[in-house]
Amino acid sequence: MSQLIFLNGELVAKEDAKVSVYDHGFLYGDGVFEGIRTYGGNVFRLNEHLDRLYDSAKGILLEIPYTKPEMTKIVVDTVRANHLEDAYIRLVVSRGVGNLGLDPFTCARPNVIVIVEPLALFPKELYETGLSIVTVATRRSRSDILNPKLKSLNYLNNILVKIEAHLAGVSEALMLNTEGYVAEGSGDNVFIVKRGELWTPPSYLGALEGVTRNVIIELAKKQDIPVHVEPFTRQDVYVADEVFLTGTAAEVIPVVKVDGRVIGDGKPGALTHRLNTLFREVAHTDGVSIHADPQVTAS
Ligand code: PMP
Repeated sequence: MSQLIFLNGELVAKEDAKVSVYDHGFLYGDGVFEGIRTYGGNVFRLNEHLDRLYDSAKGILLEIPYTKPEMTKIVVDTVRANHLEDAYIRLVVSRGVGNLGLDPFTCARPNVIVIVEPLALFPKELYETGLSIVTVATRRSRSDILNPKLKSLNYLNNILVKIEAHLAGVSEALMLNTEGYVAEGSGDNVFIVKRGELWTPPSYLGALEGVTRNVIIELAKKQDIPVHVEPFTRQDVYVADEVFLTGTAAEVIPVVKVDGRVIGDGKPGALTHRLNTLFREVAHTDGVSIHADPQVTAS
């Protein structure tokens, strides 16, 4: 059966899911998006993802032509139509088709796209061996220039990080902000563990408020693990006992080397493992089930 994609109110075959080259999402990166995941038919923290999507859209004065309850139903129905219990979902709202000028007010209506794919999981052994990463020269754009809370289609900053990571022979890298504090990875948040306490950069330093990051903070607090959402430097990362990255795609992925410095004993840490286990437990229940009918009410 062909993969079905939601495109502006219709489910269309993948081959037919096309948008115009005049879409300002394509021409200028003008739009917003979310990466979401389902675990055993549970769309993990869908409400939080939609809150972030709608907040990002508000930030760029983009009106999404569906209410949140309607969007919930659209996502659930698209997952169902693809008969996938475990999937990665990409939800994109672009400014839509306009003329070649920058002016977003020439765009008649946004294009709304929901893509549901089977999961392309990270290689399993990475969770056992851990990642080797580097810090790169590309800095996280300042929050007073392009606020990292705004998950827009403008991902060039992150792509430059990915390029630098690959040139350095690794698959992921950390960005610092313009003051040299650690911000985040190219597509994930970063945590360090020091003497049993957890640290992650605050969003004003350049970290996206990751859904996975928030879950990890909540889980740690429930376990009485002190959590500091505070600035830290590259040196703090080097001498941390444990380092891990979090994200919808990566979940909780251990890091064992940063810029050639071995982290802890060079193996994924115990707290990283514990938080990952707890994360996987909630991943199957904390969200919107595709097996129940989402209520569409006016919001
Ligand atoms: N930072 C960036 C830049 C990202 O693109 C992502 C992925 N959305 C994350 C962090 C992790 O966020 P989440 O846990 O919501 O996937």
